[in-house]
Amino acid sequence: ASDGTNGHSQLPTEEDMRLLQLQQRYAEEAAKRIRADGPAQFLDLTDADTDRFKAIAEDPWADHAALNAKQTVKDGATYKFLVLGGGYGGLLYAVRLMQAGLIKGPDDVRLVDAAGGFGGTWYWNRYPGLHCDVESYIYMPLLEETGYMPKQKYSPGSELREHAERIATQFELHDKALFRSNAKAATWDEEEKLWTVQITEGRGPNEPSRELTLKCQYLMVASGVLNVPHVPKIPGLEGFGGEMFHTARWDYSATGGSYESPDMEKLKDKRVGIIGTGATSIQIIPQLAKWAKELYVFQRTPSAVHPRDQKATDPEEWKTKIASKKGWQVERALNFAAHMSLATKEGEENLVNDGWTRIPAYSALIGSPGFGLIEPTPEAIGANVARLYKMDTPTAETARARVDQIVKDPETANKLKAWYPSWCKRPTFSDMYLQAFNEPNVHLIDTNGQGIEAATKDGLIFAGKEDPLDVLVLSTGYRSPAFGNGNPAAKTGISVIGRGGLSMDEKWKNIGSATLHGVATSGFPNLFFAFGPQTAATANFITMLEVGIQHTAHILAKAEEKVGAGSRAIVEVTKEEEEAWTMQVMMRAPYFASIMGCTPGYLNGEGQSARQDPKDMMKASRSSGWSEGMLSYVEVLEEYRREGSLKGVEITAA
Ligand code: FAD
Ligand code: NDP
Repeated sequence: ASDGTNGHSQLPTEEDMRLLQLQQRYAEEAAKRIRADGPAQFLDLTDADTDRFKAIAEDPWADHAALNAKQTVKDGATYKFLVLGGGYGGLLYAVRLMQAGLIKGPDDVRLVDAAGGFGGTWYWNRYPGLHCDVESYIYMPLLEETGYMPKQKYSPGSELREHAERIATQFELHDKALFRSNAKAATWDEEEKLWTVQITEGRGPNEPSRELTLKCQYLMVASGVLNVPHVPKIPGLEGFGGEMFHTARWDYSATGGSYESPDMEKLKDKRVGIIGTGATSIQIIPQLAKWAKELYVFQRTPSAVHPRDQKATDPEEWKTKIASKKGWQVERALNFAAHMSLATKEGEENLVNDGWTRIPAYSALIGSPGFGLIEPTPEAIGANVARLYKMDTPTAETARARVDQIVKDPETANKLKAWYPSWCKRPTFSDMYLQAFNEPNVHLIDTNGQGIEAATKDGLIFAGKEDPLDVLVLSTGYRSPAFGNGNPAAKTGISVIGRGGLSMDEKWKNIGSATLHGVATSGFPNLFFAFGPQTAATANFITMLEVGIQHTAHILAKAEEKVGAGSRAIVEVTKEEEEAWTMQVMMRAPYFASIMGCTPGYLNGEGQSARQDPKDMMKASRSSGWSEGMLSYVEVLEEYRREGSLKGVEITAA
C-alpha cells in the first residue's frame, strides 16, 4: 500500500496502549501536584526576616576564634583573580588557573566564601548518611594531582570535605581564602579596568561584621547550584515548639552525636518528623530510623530508589585498572558521560558501570547525540517525547517492582512508588531506604501530592490529623538552579554592574541568557562563570565544572600570551558571537520538551515552565542545555580551541 502499512491499519498495539495508560497516570500524578504559587511556595532561608528562620540559616560549623585570628585579605587591595566560592568549583578554578600559568605570585588569587571553610556543598551539608551519588573516582576532583584514593566507590560527605581541604593544602590556598564572607556587589571600573567587589565579612557572634572592598582583574563566579536552602511556607511552621532545622545545617545538639560520630542518642525518646523524600532524605531516613523512638516521614512525592551497590575500593584494582595511567580521571568521567547520554562508541567499555548508566532515559534531561535536532513542531516534539517514555518504562517499572520486593506492607509499598519518568527528579540510589519502612518505628505519612497543611506548636497537620513531634527535620531542598533563568548574578545573590552601568540582572531580564559557550557574557569583561546556562549537563556536576573551567583557563592563557607580560588583559565576548551561540542553544531547546510535563520540582520551576506565556518561554529557551550531551559539547569546545582564533573573544591590553 502507498501509505507504507502493507495494507494493515495502524492500530495501536497492546504495548502502545500500556504506554499510553502509563503516560496518562504520570500526567494525573503531575497535575495533582501543580500549585498556583509554583516556586513562591518556598522561602529562601537567606531571605528570612524572622529570628527563628534566620537562626536556622546560620553557619553551625565555623570556628570563629580561629578565623578571626587570621588575616588573608587587605581591605582595598587588588588581586589578579577573585574567585567567588570555595567549593569544588572555586578550588578547580584556582588549580586550573595555576596550572595554566595564570596564578603565580602570592597576591594572584583570593577565594571568598560565605562558608567558614572549603568544600561548598560538602562544608554546609553534614547530615548523617551523606554520600556522593556519583562514583567518587570521577566525582572527587583532582585525584591525579593529589594522588588520593577514595576509600569507597561512593564517598561519605566527611571524606568529600576532607578532600577539599587536601586540595587547598596541596595548592597552598589556606592563606588565600576569606571565609564567612558574603559578596554583595561587583562593579566594573572602566577607569581602572578592574572589578570592585563589596563584601561583608561575618566575624561570629562576639564581633561586629566588617565591610570590605576588594579589587581584581578577573572575577570568577563559582557560587554553586544547590546552596540556598529553602523551606515551604507552611502556615504555623515558625511556631513549631520543638527543635527544628534544615538538612543543610544539621543540628547535632538537637539529635546527639556529631558529624564524625553520628550516634543520635538524644533521639531515643523522641518523636521525629522529617518533611521531604528527595535525594537528601533517602540518605538520612535510614539513619534517623536507627535512633528515633518514632520517625514520621512526611511525603509529597516519592523518589525512585535504585540499588546502590556500595563497595570498598580495592587498592590493587585502583593501581592496575582504575588509576593506572595519566589522564585516567578525565577519560573515566567522559566515559561515564558517554554512557549517560547514549554516546558510546561500538564496544566501548562501561568503566563506572553503576546504576546511573542503567537509566538511559535520563538522557532526556542531559541530552544525547543520537536523535539530531528536534524540529520545533508538535509532531516532532511529540515523537521524541514518546520515544523517551518508551525508553524509560523498563527502568521505572523495575524501580516500582523493587519497592514491592523490599517493603513488606503492601499499602506502604504502593505509596512509595514513583509515578513519573526517570528524568523528572534526580534518581536516588540506596540499599537502606526502602528497608527502613519495614521497621516498626517508621511511619509514612503520604500526603498524596498535597504536602503538609499546617504546623502547630506540637506537630504537623495533614488531612485534619495532627502528628505530635519533638524534633522536625526540614529536608525540603534548595532554590532552583534555574533561578533567574541561570543568571549568574541572581544565583549568587550579588548585584553585578558591567560596562556602561549595565546590570547583569537587567540584561537577563531583557533578553534572557546570552553567553559564549556558557562561560562569559558580553558587557562584563573579565568575568567568568561555571555552571552557566547554555552548557552541557551530565549526572556528575564536577564534569560540568571541569569542562567550563578548563575552557576558561585556555582562553585566558591565550589572552595573556597575546597582550604579553607586563600588560593586563581585558577579555570580553562579543554580542554577535554570544547571540550566535545562543541561537545554537535555542535550536536545541525542543529536545528538552519532555521536562515541561514533569511532576513539579526544581528542574521545571515547580511546574511553572509549562505555564509561561510564549514570550517568557522563548526567553527560557535561551537557557537551554546542549541537546547532544556532554561529549558533543566537549568536542565543539575542543574544535574551537584547535582552530585557535578565539572567535568572538575580544582581547585588549589595559
Ligand atoms: P558549591 O559546592 O555549592 O559551593 C559554592 C560556594 O559558593 C558555597 O560554599 C557558597 O557558600 C558560596 N557562595 C555562593 N554565593 C556566594 C556569595 N554571594 N558570597 C560568598 N560566597 C558565596 N552533585 C553530584 O554530581 N554528585 C553528588 O553526589 C552530589 N551530591 C550533592 C549532595 C547535596 C546534599 C547537595 C546539596 C548537592 C549535591 N550535588 C551533587 C551537587 C553539588 O552541589 C555539586 O556537585 C558541587 O559540589 C558544586 O560545587 P560548586 O563549588 O560549584 O558549588
Ligand atoms: P529536593 O528538592 O529534591 O526535595 C525536597 C523534598 O521536600 C521533596 O520531596 C518535596 O516534595 C518535599 N516538600 C517540599 N515542600 C513540601 C511540603 N510543603 N510538604 C511536604 N513535602 C514537601 O531536595 P533534596 O535536598 O532532597 O535534594 C536536592 C538535590 O541535591 C538533589 O536533587 C540532588 O541533585 C542533590 N543531592 C544529592 C545527593 C546525593 O545523593 N549525593 C543527596 C542530597 C541531595 P516534592 O517532590 O513533591 O516537591
